[in-house]
Amino acid sequence: MFLTISTTGNPERPATDLGFLLHKHPEKAQTYSTSHGTAHVFYPEASAERCTAALLLEVDPVALVRKGKGKGKGKGRSGAPDAALAQYVNDRPYAASSLLSVAMSTVFKSALSGTCRAMPERAEATLPLRIEVPALPARGGAELVRGLFGPLGWSRVDAVAVPLDERFPEWGDSRYVRLVLEGELRLADALRQLYVLLPVLDDAKHYWVAPDEVDKLLRAGEGWLADHPEQKLITSRYLARRWGLTRQAMERLELVRLAESDDLDVESVDNAVDETTDTEERPVPLAEQRRTAILAALDGAGASRVLDLGCGQGQLVQALLKDVRFTEIVGVDVSMRALTVASRRLKLDRMGERQAARVTLQQGSLTYTDKRLKGYDAAVLSEVIEHLDLPRLPALEYAVFGSARPRTVLVTTPNVEYNVRWETLPAGHVRHGDHRFEWTRAEFRDWAGQVARRHGYGVEFVPVGPDDPEVGPPTQMAVFTMTAADEKEKEAKAA
Ligand code: SAH
Repeated sequence: MFLTISTTGNPERPATDLGFLLHKHPEKAQTYSTSHGTAHVFYPEASAERCTAALLLEVDPVALVRKGKGKGKGKGRSGAPDAALAQYVNDRPYAASSLLSVAMSTVFKSALSGTCRAMPERAEATLPLRIEVPALPARGGAELVRGLFGPLGWSRVDAVAVPLDERFPEWGDSRYVRLVLEGELRLADALRQLYVLLPVLDDAKHYWVAPDEVDKLLRAGEGWLADHPEQKLITSRYLARRWGLTRQAMERLELVRLAESDDLDVESVDNAVDETTDTEERPVPLAEQRRTAILAALDGAGASRVLDLGCGQGQLVQALLKDVRFTEIVGVDVSMRALTVASRRLKLDRMGERQAARVTLQQGSLTYTDKRLKGYDAAVLSEVIEHLDLPRLPALEYAVFGSARPRTVLVTTPNVEYNVRWETLPAGHVRHGDHRFEWTRAEFRDWAGQVARRHGYGVEFVPVGPDDPEVGPPTQMAVFTMTAADEKEKEAKAA
């Protein structure tokens, strides 16, 4: 199994920088053992003008068969009971299949994540790339290969079916395609595309598809999968047609798309309104007033281990970090892009060890139960529920109040009655393009009351921002506190 990655350069920007970006020295051939065989990385050419890195995976067919059998649930061809000989005589050694993708994730781990300590700015930038995969098993043929790589920013996508035997064209084509990609892309983006699309085209995964494959897919698909016209085919094939996982991935991609389309501009309308108020001093933006109210409520609850669910760009996480009372802070969001912005804001990579130990950012969807979220003092959902479609709200309710069950839960959401005071907001509009609903005070109280009853919490309401005598405050906050009986039960369970 074989692929090459080439780039061109000049004396100022030598092509051999590719070695830094791949974390593999151009003058050395290197060997890695992966779970399915031995991977070699070497450079057939390495000059300032042109540099080519080759990845070759020598598959150990016997190990492959053993693996398939040992697990007992491998879905690969090699596991078929009637294929005794085929297990040992197959195309694996030559074809660039899903196994090559697994090898890439081992050998090019840092390059896939887009990090390069030696040349961070080069890793961020695009470079002229040429990628060649001489034998790509492609179920769906050259046309599908073009359909998958076509929308991804390459200036040339050349996919040609390899004939079964060149001497006998009448035999037709094999199931292999010779693929050449050329274009100006970030190396990490190109590698992530291959990492996902090689197994998608191979369509025969050789390892068990675990639920964390959804996370892997979303991570590798960051920046290109959410808008891909073949998203459904990619997702379902990548996840070996496991429908439950596929649906979960599609749903999360939809959220990513929405979160990204609104350009992370949650605070703009809030702030626009503050400019219309009539004070001499700089008005305090509503988002800041919200954070102040949240910090006060957390303080009142005596919370020190806190979840920020739907943390967005991490403004609240940042405020929590400034207060030593909060010993453990976990920010969760479905949008990788938001988390990337958050981690830059917090300067996570430059943070001292003790500070860093207090904070974690993790990707996840709040409409799925998540064991990692159990056992915290408090959870904050600041301006998050209105981003979910109403029919998904019960799932979030269960994940937070039924499964994670922190002692205190704070939920803030816009009060739609206040919208008439928003001079910049056209009548009948919600405050933000991605809001699926905005509630009146009565509607919010009704929902919160039911949630509290169903899950053993008490609930109180706190206005945030100027509490208008007619229409109430711009933001409404519910403070849920687990009732004593439930807390005892929780302690008993923990003991
Ligand atoms: N809490 C922040 C951000 C609010 S914007 C603040 O108060 O400023 C809403 C955030 O919720 C977005 O970052 C969006 O990506 C996230 N979000 C929406 N649906 C989600 C879901 N199902 N799971 C996790 N996060 C979600």
